[in-house]
Amino acid sequence: MNLVPNAQANMASNNQGGVLYVVATPIGNLGDLSERAIQVLHQADIVACEDTRHTHRLLQHLGLRKVTLSVHDHNERDRIEQIAKHLSEGRNIALVSDAGTPLISDPGYPLVNALRAMGHNVVPIPGPSALITALSAAGLPTDRFLFEGFLPHKSSGRRERLEPLINETATLVFYESKHRILDTLQLMVDAFGSEREACVARELTKTFETYYHGTLQSILQQLNVDNDQTKGEFVVMVAGNPNPVTGSSYDTEKLFKLLLVELPPKKAAAVIAELTGENKKELYQKALEMQGKV
Ligand code: SAM
Repeated sequence: MNLVPNAQANMASNNQGGVLYVVATPIGNLGDLSERAIQVLHQADIVACEDTRHTHRLLQHLGLRKVTLSVHDHNERDRIEQIAKHLSEGRNIALVSDAGTPLISDPGYPLVNALRAMGHNVVPIPGPSALITALSAAGLPTDRFLFEGFLPHKSSGRRERLEPLINETATLVFYESKHRILDTLQLMVDAFGSEREACVARELTKTFETYYHGTLQSILQQLNVDNDQTKGEFVVMVAGNPNPVTGSSYDTEKLFKLLLVELPPKKAAAVIAELTGENKKELYQKALEMQGKV
């Protein structure tokens, strides 16, 4: 296989075996496939992909017929040995996911981790990723951001993941599907407050690409008024807390003493969690201890 110059440079440390190329593919617009990605796909001996049918369409677009190997969440660990053997025998493998950069909320982490530990060459072929694409045009601070990926499916799980982020000052980035976008925005209004600045990017690089800007509440309203606005794929970005409250500026014990006179422990813990950003469950435990119930 003829290697592209940068990949050749990377192979210098181990010119015995093949290379696993981690290849980013478009998130909607086929024109975003890079020249290097096309070259690597052309030259790869095997294309390891999340969904073989999906990737065949991309390969067909490039006029390529390739040996493909499925690598998804359910078989990835079993594939490690097989892929390591191919690499040891000098075959080059391109790893792609259905869209964007593999490993970013997509399969590939256990594989890359194991192959690196075995000393195989792993070379990234950079390209589209929804989170970077979304951030680049959102107009929210990008000097520090926290990628939170997908939240759990259940509302209760999502609420639990959002709670510790209330006082985060970096921009928060989430992936979300059409099934949960409204519910998630409502949970974010509840957790971060209706006035927190945010931006939602929908259908990036596709025909109906849309950015919604404003407060969390106003974005929720914009999406709520029209069913079409909740179709497609979403990146939700929330500005960091401009006025973070650290637990240390509050005397939680004193607050409990005052509140427990009027409120049941659960409610008192919820109020203090909202004020201090401290963990609600831990505060509830403390309330019970203070009442001598544990
Ligand atoms: N590996 C991909 C990447 O690098 O962005 C992400 C794959 S993840 C399984 C799919 C999620 O990414 C979608 O549910 C959505 O949240 C986000 N996403 C992917 N493509 C998108 C697009 N064109 N517009 C908006 N969000 C997108």
